[in-house]
Amino acid sequence: MKKYKTPILLFAIFEIIAISLWLATGNLFFLLNFTYIGLCIGVGSALQAAGKKYAREFVQFGVGAYMLVFLGLICRENMQIEGFWYYLLSGVFGAGVLHYLIAKIFGPLLFGRGWCGYCCWTAMILDLLPYKQPQGPRKKIGYIRYIVFALSLILVLLLFHFGKATKQTMFMIFLVGNLLYYVVGILLAIAFKDNRAFCKYICPITVFLKPMSYYSWLRVRCDEEKCIQCGKCLEVCPMDVEVNKDSRDRINATECILCNKCKKVCPVKALK
Ligand code: SF4
Ligand code: SF4
Ligand code: SF4
Repeated sequence: MKKYKTPILLFAIFEIIAISLWLATGNLFFLLNFTYIGLCIGVGSALQAAGKKYAREFVQFGVGAYMLVFLGLICRENMQIEGFWYYLLSGVFGAGVLHYLIAKIFGPLLFGRGWCGYCCWTAMILDLLPYKQPQGPRKKIGYIRYIVFALSLILVLLLFHFGKATKQTMFMIFLVGNLLYYVVGILLAIAFKDNRAFCKYICPITVFLKPMSYYSWLRVRCDEEKCIQCGKCLEVCPMDVEVNKDSRDRINATECILCNKCKKVCPVKALK
């Protein structure tokens, strides 16, 4: 049962959020939404703990497709960063803001960049591309994320300034924004031979995710006494994390998406 401690804990956390929000707002949506997401994450991480092959993909598609198709396309909620700015500036503390607070701002203190490894609908598609391990050195263009972050805020401020900040406009921005993310993400993955190039250099959400995940409770620990420096973990890591060090200051520490690929290849079980 010990190996199922984290899946049970994750499900319990989502259930507490689901019930608390339901009771606080009287809105049944919160109960169903967070119970569904918690179930996907709980079952997926239990499958992963049991060594099942496509456990992470199960969660990625279970949560990612639900958010993109149901919440985004059917319910017309803009869950991208522009939607977050829009709801925040409108003073609406609704699903969009809650989503950011839980998954991308405060949640990472607990589960790091679990969102990126298991729930993101952009990465859900990018991870299907053939460059699962980066085939070249990391580029020094990570500053682009700050430009995209600033542009997203400026765009929404301009919409408010010109009186165009409506739900309909935000839905159109959601459609165009997603399409753009997929096109840029796929082209960049092909150009750099790296499925996660978009995550490393462009994605504006990492401006929230990276600093918060530095302090994450859930993280891959390395027993440096056990490590034989074979380098296998470094070869398979899609995010170039120096995972054979235990320090929070290891290279690209805040890039870890908790995919657990490194743990699977470690011959001496030094990674936990
Ligand atoms: S970095 Fe951005 S695009 Fe990549 S998985 Fe995380 S949220 Fe999704
Ligand atoms: S391979 Fe290991 S260090 Fe790299 S992202 Fe996955 S869990 Fe993190
Ligand atoms: S795979 Fe294990 S033994 Fe090899 S370098 Fe990584 S942590 Fe060390």
